[in-house]
Amino acid sequence: MVTTFEDLVGRLGAAAVAIGAAVPPRYRSDAFRAHRGSRISDEGPSPAAVVWPRSAEDVAAVARFAKTASLSIVPWGGGTGLMGGARPGLHSLVIDLRRMRRVRRIDAISRTATAEAGIVLEDLDRRLRKRRLSLGHDPWSRPRATLGGAIGTNGIGYAGYLRGTMGDQVLGLEVVLADGTIVRTRPAARSTTGLDLKRLFIGTEGTMGIVTAATLRVFPVPEREEIHAFRLRDFPAGLRCISRMYDAGLVPSAMDFEEAFPAPALPWGSDAGPPTLYLGFAGGREIVAASWRVARRYLRAVRARALPDREARDYWRTRHDIIYAHDQVSPGVTRADVFLKDVIFDYVHVALPRSKILAYRRAALAVLRRHDVRPIGFGIWTQPELVSLEVIRPVGADRSAAKLAVAEAIDEMIRRAQALGGSMEYVHGVGVKLSHLMGEELGAGLDVARRVKDALDPDRVLNPGKTGL
Ligand SMILES: Cc1cc2nc3c(=O)[nH]c(=O)nc-3n(C[C@H](O)[C@H](O)[C@H](O)COP(=O)(O)OP(=O)(O)OC[C@H]3O[C@@H](n4cnc5c(N)ncnc54)[C@H](O)[C@@H]3O)c2cc1C
Repeated sequence: MVTTFEDLVGRLGAAAVAIGAAVPPRYRSDAFRAHRGSRISDEGPSPAAVVWPRSAEDVAAVARFAKTASLSIVPWGGGTGLMGGARPGLHSLVIDLRRMRRVRRIDAISRTATAEAGIVLEDLDRRLRKRRLSLGHDPWSRPRATLGGAIGTNGIGYAGYLRGTMGDQVLGLEVVLADGTIVRTRPAARSTTGLDLKRLFIGTEGTMGIVTAATLRVFPVPEREEIHAFRLRDFPAGLRCISRMYDAGLVPSAMDFEEAFPAPALPWGSDAGPPTLYLGFAGGREIVAASWRVARRYLRAVRARALPDREARDYWRTRHDIIYAHDQVSPGVTRADVFLKDVIFDYVHVALPRSKILAYRRAALAVLRRHDVRPIGFGIWTQPELVSLEVIRPVGADRSAAKLAVAEAIDEMIRRAQALGGSMEYVHGVGVKLSHLMGEELGAGLDVARRVKDALDPDRVLNPGKTGL
């Protein structure tokens, strides 16, 4: 029984435990950094300790210890979460799962793979590619984010429409509960056996359990993948065209449609102007060729202009590069912290009924004007219902006023999306950044979520304060 830090060191080994001043500064915050619009402090306190377990049994021992020591547990994957879901408190014990990174089994015939939660998504994809298979989840953050973090946030990647969210690809989970119980759900293709237990742990940001391994649906490497870029006349014409393609049954492997606004404060260049569409199809050669034949018909109908192939190639080749901005350049300081020190830079990712997207665009731009915050881009990603909006405001003389203005604009845009029948976030989760809006998001459902939490974690050990819990 582990009841003291000495016992913990005895169980995990000295190299797997950091206590007090030995905790590296990077654990004070994930990728929810000082440049974001927020009323919350720029980073959290240093946690009481960090541990690096190697097995589900280690994690179970840590969970039991945390309860005895009155510490809360914060599961940590790649620390790339954008909402502060992995941000610790003063009395937190961070469980960094990245030493649990084994691929336990690849079943190439069944197209399934079982891997530990701390494996980096790109490493898992590389392992799969050696067997002519691929991971269906391909977020911008693939070179740094882990399987457990992607399940914890139920993220979505470039192939989100073709493959679904991370959670849609999970067949079964191994999870450690707050009391140290290890639960393994059956990784079957389908089951109608009452409550789908694994869903309790998908997208709940470690508040219900700590995922230690998962069995995933994986996919054959496509025979062909073709991506092209187009310039559309304006956003409404593009949205209409894309909607028609989806209605016709096309299933893009990539779709990214965005208009760019003039943003002089942006520390990198941006070409304001009519929107660009990056569109891709993957699969057998004939399927890809037929998809392009149909897609081009719809694109011609709105006089879309094909851009040079180089544009699409560069877009695809560099699609993960932005995540390296979140690497540390000195202890606790990332490249993004340095790069974005003079601006508040933030984004909104809402899911809306298609019929409301143009009304939302008008309303959101008006909200931004009122708060003196500039739009950078407005777009849809992977499917027509998933809307993103990036914004910026120079810090100026009063940094906290700028942060507050962006936070208020974002809250207002989120509430507008909720009022239009949408969801306030479709990709990055809730963390601490959006926790205050969960009552409006879930209504009476928030109380249901709290009762589930009470049943599974009565002492509130697991990641308190996240997702409104
Ligand atoms: C530049 C950039 C681009 C991004 N692009 C995308 C994108 O395209 N798509 C996308 O979905 N996301 C994106 N993200 C957000 C982020 O990468 C994802 O949320 C990712 O899934 C987080 O994985 P992680 O391993 O870094 O998790 P962390 O940040 O470490 O944790 C995320 C949350 O999950 C919890 N958690 C971590 N591990 C576990 C576990 N084993 N069990 C239970 N809970 C756990 C944490 O406590 C936290 O609440 C981006 C982030 C950045 C910085």
